[in-house]
Amino acid sequence: MPVTLIKDSLKQQGVRLTRQRQILLDLIDQSGQHLDAERLYQLAREKDPKLNRVTVYRTLKLLKAGGLVDELDLMHHSGDQHYYETRLKQEHAHVICLRCGKIEEFFGEPLKRMREQIQSHFGFQVVLARTEVGGYCSHCQVLRAKEMAAAGGELRSPAKRATRRRRVR
Ligand SMILES: [Zn+2]
Ligand SMILES: [Zn+2]
Repeated sequence: MPVTLIKDSLKQQGVRLTRQRQILLDLIDQSGQHLDAERLYQLAREKDPKLNRVTVYRTLKLLKAGGLVDELDLMHHSGDQHYYETRLKQEHAHVICLRCGKIEEFFGEPLKRMREQIQSHFGFQVVLARTEVGGYCSHCQVLRAKEMAAAGGELRSPAKRATRRRRVR
């Protein structure tokens, strides 16, 4: 859905796209990231210092209710925040690293197939599908292996750890 369509859709719903709403919509659309409400608030303030938190939260709610913005929790990898993205993009799955919080987007045929299978299997009309995959990115796998080796070493042989510490000194 291009931004112009979003605007039309808002108009149809009788929602006026005020300057402040426009700022938020543009931020979400152009960031290419998944920003939480607090970050959006900070970015929006840079554009309009008069914007307050209440307006930001209210606007997010409105855009979400209008089906223009998607609210994600991304496996709560860093707490209870929610993240926002426009529905402009093609459907995709979010691949979340549970260690560093890096988010990849997977656009692929399997998602479309899953949607079709669910529709035909349950006779269900899918309106919205959200897929999240949690795990560890390649970088964090290496770090985790090191951390686990270090922790394991300490658990297995306290004597060795003592030696190592002496050597460090
Ligand atoms: Zn990672
Ligand atoms: Zn996304």
